[in-house]
Amino acid sequence: MKIFVVNSGSSSLKYQLLDMESGAVMATGLVERIGDAMGKVSQKNWPGEARESEVDREMSFPNHNAAMHTVVDLVTGKDTGVIASTSEIDAIGHRVVQGGETLFKSTLIDDDVVEKIRANCPLSPLHNPANLVGIEVARELFAGVPQVAVFDTEFHQTMPPEAFMYPIPYKLYEDLKIRRYGFHGTSHRYVTEQAASLLGKAADKVNLVTLHLGNGCSMAAVRQGKCIDTSMGLTPLAGVMMGTRSGDIDPAIIPFLMKEKDLSMAQIDDILNKQSGLKGICGMNDMRDIHGAAGKGDRKAALAVDMFVYRIKKYIGAYYAVTGPLDALVFTAGIGENDDIVRGRVCAGLEHLGIAIDPARNAGRKKVATAVHADDSKVAILVIPTNEELAIARATLSVLN
Ligand code: AMP
Repeated sequence: MKIFVVNSGSSSLKYQLLDMESGAVMATGLVERIGDAMGKVSQKNWPGEARESEVDREMSFPNHNAAMHTVVDLVTGKDTGVIASTSEIDAIGHRVVQGGETLFKSTLIDDDVVEKIRANCPLSPLHNPANLVGIEVARELFAGVPQVAVFDTEFHQTMPPEAFMYPIPYKLYEDLKIRRYGFHGTSHRYVTEQAASLLGKAADKVNLVTLHLGNGCSMAAVRQGKCIDTSMGLTPLAGVMMGTRSGDIDPAIIPFLMKEKDLSMAQIDDILNKQSGLKGICGMNDMRDIHGAAGKGDRKAALAVDMFVYRIKKYIGAYYAVTGPLDALVFTAGIGENDDIVRGRVCAGLEHLGIAIDPARNAGRKKVATAVHADDSKVAILVIPTNEELAIARATLSVLN
């Protein structure tokens, strides 16, 4: 069973071809700057054995259709390919960011599902239209191949109303479906399942706080294997501090700013999504650069790390209060997997909650799942590299089965 996973963004297309029997990633690639004068495609192959080959080409992609054609040519090409023809692909799994209240679970894509994804575009105007383009092009190019939509919001659908409702007029929920949806769901689900298996517990028995800390950051409270709360909200702007996104702020800051600085809604949106978070405080959004600068005495860089860590700690406390006895804290994504300073500082001082990290075990980047807690820690601390593509492929397979 070969599954092709497509994750299309507004100007990019990430893809992966997986062989589900052997568990092998056959090819993984990325098309960048679709729509620009010049773009780029890169692909890495593992055809059969350990032999690796790589593609790295500058070329222009006027639209997603052109990008997908190139991708198909690359994965089936004589010199660049890993399969002889597209007929070897058994199914396509698409990442779709927003399922809203109409698409709860991974589902086989038909015209009705496409229309529902389209109807959810107002709730995710940056992502859903791009995901739809990927789906439409793939349906055209891979006619007859089953296609499955896997939603970022799916894992969070188990939140109870007291967690997903906002304390604003109920009519706004009825009219516009304004509520917390949460994102990064495939990642939170993947690490939840991995954590359960590492802990030797059934997936529906674990209590966890999962921390997806990348350029975008979100946390989830998992009780008995189910998500009961998550930090992102109606949009991926809410929650903990991120690379360029503010996370939680006093909502009254928005009208205040509009009045005092005479800003438009679009300008506010740009400030909160692209000029805030770590970047807003210290001008940088890559944690490696920030640590480097802080080490050289840059006080704003040091403050950015302090704030980042403090806000995560507060969420751990809040989620610990609702999960019940915690089995593990789980770190994942770019910062979670690679940044031992952030992991160490997030856990420091939480010993009274039974959370104690072991500095030697924590040291360094983690390429494989690793336990980093001290022997006497009541709560396990796990670093689990996320694998959203594999999670999408597994979800695709389970829909087909
Ligand atoms: P992601 O969105 O999951 O790809 O994560 C990207 C972020 O991970 C980058 O912006 C960096 O802040 C962070 N990151 C990646 N590698 C490292 C590292 N070795 N140390 C610290 N942070 C890292």
